[in-house]
Amino acid sequence: MELVSEIGTKNVNGKWIGFGIYFCPVCMSNVEMQNRSGKKAKTCFKCINRTHGETKTRLFRIWTAIKSRAKLKSGTYADLRVEIYERWASSFKEFKKWAIENGYNEVLTIDRIDNRLGYYPSNCRWATMTTQQNNKREIQKNNTTGHKGISIQGKKFRAGKTINKKAVCFGLFDTMEEAIECYKKMTL
Ligand SMILES: [Zn+2]
Repeated sequence: MELVSEIGTKNVNGKWIGFGIYFCPVCMSNVEMQNRSGKKAKTCFKCINRTHGETKTRLFRIWTAIKSRAKLKSGTYADLRVEIYERWASSFKEFKKWAIENGYNEVLTIDRIDNRLGYYPSNCRWATMTTQQNNKREIQKNNTTGHKGISIQGKKFRAGKTINKKAVCFGLFDTMEEAIECYKKMTL
């Protein structure tokens, strides 16, 4: 999970253990956890039981990634304003239901039809990389938002930047959302 803030060490049964506040992407709340488990965990302890084995699926990673972008809406990074359909934000089940009904499969990625709008059922579709690339070109032509720092490499989305005239790759991802998230983190 994402570390929100460090708490420091606490004495637990005679041992000093580091604690922090972590953001749980499932219940979208801050929870206190030992750093040791917080860094590794995908969700808070309450949510582990609610999501069962789902956290290991690709669809779950997509869901976490879009929520993570939407979360920043209320944060400090104004350029990251992306809205998300309330029922998707609060329930992976709802998102999954929509995904399956709308033709989700392992090779498709979530695509916002109009990139200026948020993640809503009416503005989202499952698309191939090619569709997304075309969409991206369209955006660059129109000179609206675009996705700075994100390119396509093979079947992956690449997050990177030119630093001192050298192309630096931050990482390759299955979804554009994950690549954008990485780019933002690396360039803050
Ligand atoms: Zn939780």
